[in-house]
Amino acid sequence: MRIIRNGGTASKPGPAEYFTGTVRMDMDFNAEPPARVGGVTVTFEPGARTAWHTHPLGQTLIVTAGLGWARVEDGPREEIRPGDIVWFPPGVRHWHGATDTTAMTHIAIAETLDGRRVDWEEHVTDADYMAP
Ligand code: MN
Repeated sequence: MRIIRNGGTASKPGPAEYFTGTVRMDMDFNAEPPARVGGVTVTFEPGARTAWHTHPLGQTLIVTAGLGWARVEDGPREEIRPGDIVWFPPGVRHWHGATDTTAMTHIAIAETLDGRRVDWEEHVTDADYMAP
């Protein structure tokens, strides 16, 4: 058994290359092969969001605090709340983040394929972020 102790690793900022606004990442974990699963707790300040991206094997989000928005390309912007569980299928372009006024925290869980869990694309424009 392995226990990753809370407080044992420093919080990290979300890289500006992949996020808009202020994002904090905590408690990342990676199973050992042949398991593929890994994840991280991500906290978005109001207005903060991921860039557009896909996951080769999909992604599960478990919202733990605040109020967020998530959108798949050509879909509506969905509100996501604590206790909600969101699934993005493999290869579906999407973004997720806080609302414009309220911070949001989720646990993001995904499996690795060929060494990658995410393929990053361009930033989400303010117009795309605010569109209902
Ligand atoms: Mn995602």
